[in-house]
Amino acid sequence: MGPTRRNILGAALLAAAAPRAWAQTPAPPTGPHSLPPLPYAPDANEPHIDAQTMTLHHDRHHAAYITNLNAALKDQGTLAALPVPDLLARLPETPEAIRTALRNNAGGHANHSMFWSVMGGKGGLPTGAVAAAVDRDLGGTDAMRAAFSRMGLAQFGSGWVFITVDRDGKLALAARPNQDTPLMEGGRVLLGNDVWEHAYYLKYQNRRADYLAAWWNVVNWDAVARRYEQAKAGTLGV
Ligand code: MN
Repeated sequence: MGPTRRNILGAALLAAAAPRAWAQTPAPPTGPHSLPPLPYAPDANEPHIDAQTMTLHHDRHHAAYITNLNAALKDQGTLAALPVPDLLARLPETPEAIRTALRNNAGGHANHSMFWSVMGGKGGLPTGAVAAAVDRDLGGTDAMRAAFSRMGLAQFGSGWVFITVDRDGKLALAARPNQDTPLMEGGRVLLGNDVWEHAYYLKYQNRRADYLAAWWNVVNWDAVARRYEQAKAGTLGV
């Protein structure tokens, strides 16, 4: 007996209700950490940082750090409840079996959350208390940018270059490999730039120096000024 119209309709309904193949793989652990949305459109940093790079960087790279961080924290109730800066500051106390995963992925989550928050601006010069601190501690904006770029270029392979800030508002330059961050020493980051190739390769290829120079055009100094006040108040997170 051939298929009746009723049977064909039934099969179509069943097919529509069946889960797609990709939905049958186990879902990654959800939480405790989640991907913060980009605080602006992906093209907000054009032409200096292209929209495709921003989208891939946020939606794929940052998302992967969070997926892997949540996977490492599965069955780790106490550690899972910690804010990211506290988790990073307490890495030596974490179980050895997950310590490297926590270091790479909590570090990656912290670094990228900071990174998005200090971009989306129009560059220019720091103002107010940040400008005064840059003059006092880093020899002025020109010297700061030159040293920051030098350190970003000198970072072999993947890593970050940062300006750190302490509770007294004192600034310093720092570079770290991989997804390490001064948060791992209990420090705080005023701003930082990602020198992993995934941050710039589509537009700049191997020209890291050009990327480092162009990045200043998208720094949001108002956001940096808020981070500076939070650091002095002891409320700055990642
Ligand atoms: Mn990155």
